[in-house]
Amino acid sequence: MPANRSLAIVVRTVDVFETSLVATLFTRELGKVSALAKGGRRLKSPFQGGLDLLGVSDIVLLPKASEALDLLTEAAPLERFACLRRDLAALYAGYYIAELLTDLTDYHDPHPKLFDAARITLRHLGDASLRTRRVLRFELACLRELGHMPTLDRCAHCGEPVDVREAVAFGLATGGVLCPVCRPGQPHVVTLPARTIEAVRVLASPGSDWREIELAGSSLASIRQTVGAVISHVLGHRPRVWPLLGV
Ligand SMILES: [Zn+2]
Repeated sequence: MPANRSLAIVVRTVDVFETSLVATLFTRELGKVSALAKGGRRLKSPFQGGLDLLGVSDIVLLPKASEALDLLTEAAPLERFACLRRDLAALYAGYYIAELLTDLTDYHDPHPKLFDAARITLRHLGDASLRTRRVLRFELACLRELGHMPTLDRCAHCGEPVDVREAVAFGLATGGVLCPVCRPGQPHVVTLPARTIEAVRVLASPGSDWREIELAGSSLASIRQTVGAVISHVLGHRPRVWPLLGV
């Protein structure tokens, strides 16, 4: 089979044998792949930093037939995010992005927009003032790109418009706001203030309004809990990195 070239973010590596490792890569063109990097642990590795966790590399992959692991033949480092080396909070946020890319996406299911969103988010995690918003935007980008974005103006159950100018019922399992008719009987329903729904809408939108919205401590906590609960529901468990993020 012909070799495949792609941009890749290294999201996980596991040591195997004496000198090799298996890298999980979220690639722009091929989606998530796992590949054997022979000699990847040698001091003079042929990959020369191209398999550093959370780095962006230009990779060449030799697909293997059937059950065998693909073979990584090249991984040239393209971009390293210096903020992840000097700022622990930024590093933990980076781990969270890697966890979402690893656990929310399927193998060989490309999502170039998600790749680009991850790269931009990693690049800017050093800015503490906007870090939480950037991580929220990335979580929402994952949900949108993978078909799990909650509805914010129409009932997730019947599709009727919902008045979100006041506190509104939100079904974590149903996938969005609920009208008063559908609310009874739905599992995992929370009541959210209108400003939380509006903030999620702005954070999920293109443009730069997300930088400007007022996010006081309590409303920010409410947004993080809500988006995090939707992510947990999709994953089937709480993200492992959460305790490190202080959510
Ligand atoms: Zn309804």
